[in-house]
Amino acid sequence: MRKKTKLIHGGKTVDQSTGAVSLPIFQATTFKQDGVGNFTYEYGRTGNPTREGVETFIADLEEGKRGFAFASGMAAITAVTQLFSAGDHIIVTDDVYGGTFRLMSKIVSRFGIEASFVDTTNQDKIQAAIRPETKAVFIETPTNPLLKVTDIEAIAALVNKNGLTLVVDNTFSTPYWQRPLTLGADIVVHSATKYLGGHSDVVSGLVVTNNDELAEKLHFIQNGAGAVLSPHDSWLLIRGMKTLGVRMEEIEQNANSVAQFLRNHPDVHKVYYPGFSDHPGHHIHKQQSEGFGGMISFAVSTEEQALEILKNVKYFTLAESLGAVESLISLPAKMTHASIPRERRLKIGIEDGLIRLSIGLEDSEDLIEDLAAAFEKSKQLSH
Ligand SMILES: *Cc1c(COP(=O)(O)O)cnc(C)c1O
Repeated sequence: MRKKTKLIHGGKTVDQSTGAVSLPIFQATTFKQDGVGNFTYEYGRTGNPTREGVETFIADLEEGKRGFAFASGMAAITAVTQLFSAGDHIIVTDDVYGGTFRLMSKIVSRFGIEASFVDTTNQDKIQAAIRPETKAVFIETPTNPLLKVTDIEAIAALVNKNGLTLVVDNTFSTPYWQRPLTLGADIVVHSATKYLGGHSDVVSGLVVTNNDELAEKLHFIQNGAGAVLSPHDSWLLIRGMKTLGVRMEEIEQNANSVAQFLRNHPDVHKVYYPGFSDHPGHHIHKQQSEGFGGMISFAVSTEEQALEILKNVKYFTLAESLGAVESLISLPAKMTHASIPRERRLKIGIEDGLIRLSIGLEDSEDLIEDLAAAFEKSKQLSH
């Protein structure tokens, strides 16, 4: 099955008992047993047919064996950290999603699991960070908001050689473009709140693995810790995922046009977009991924101008999050990355005038005209 067909026919998303092509929302907490211990589903936290629909679906899309659905991306990532124990050490991409940084450094750390934040675009730095107690490497590629690219296959080789587990947060690329398990990763995690759901209406997280032993442990944690996705949210997520292909294709075109426009605009001194051949991670990204995605960041000289642009756009919605049908705009320094001290923020390249775009499904001409008009207004004000 090719990938667009798989989006329609993958997973167990047709109801076996009625043939309903939209899997029903099995809004039940418990299931009648045919005799003691004789059942398919037992209790709603342990398993639910609608949740199983989305779990088998993501497992197929990521070319893994088993999938697990959680109440949010953070709940999914938390479940993965629960594979480890006090005394263990994890290496994490240094500009990982802010919530993951907070989880690792403020919550998981209290349970005796230590994280080192390392520039994973550099294999020597990962090698140097490995200690006897290191158990896993957790990477994100491309990252947010600077779209830094890590070589999944190379890191997988390094991780395997050292007997560690490689976890990849694949939220930005989605399995439509990038399938880390096929490149040697052991676990993939998603904030399905973003592209997979795609309509800004469901907070959800997914985990996939191709390793039976890890799958057993993950199911034990999912049931034991209990942060499961509800039947209704599972249904919404399946509904969103069916159109992932057409959305990602359209977003790809739009992002490319907007990135070109920004690159040629005199007020923009830097554009971060992995689709540009001079982007530092372009060649690696192209090897491991079939598309460049819908995230673009660009820098104007001052925070004042950036704020004016944000104020004057009509079609870009000022909001956190990403990956939905509507284009979004944000100012990382004041929003998603506000908790990072300014000095560290500037050091990693998140300048005050950096604007992040998540490109949606509007006409690219409208998006470009909208940005052009906002640039004009921001200039009038600064003169
Ligand atoms: C949003 C996001 C998360 C967290 O997911 P939630 O669904 O918001 O809990 C994790 N990783 C990345 C890359 C994200 O963008």
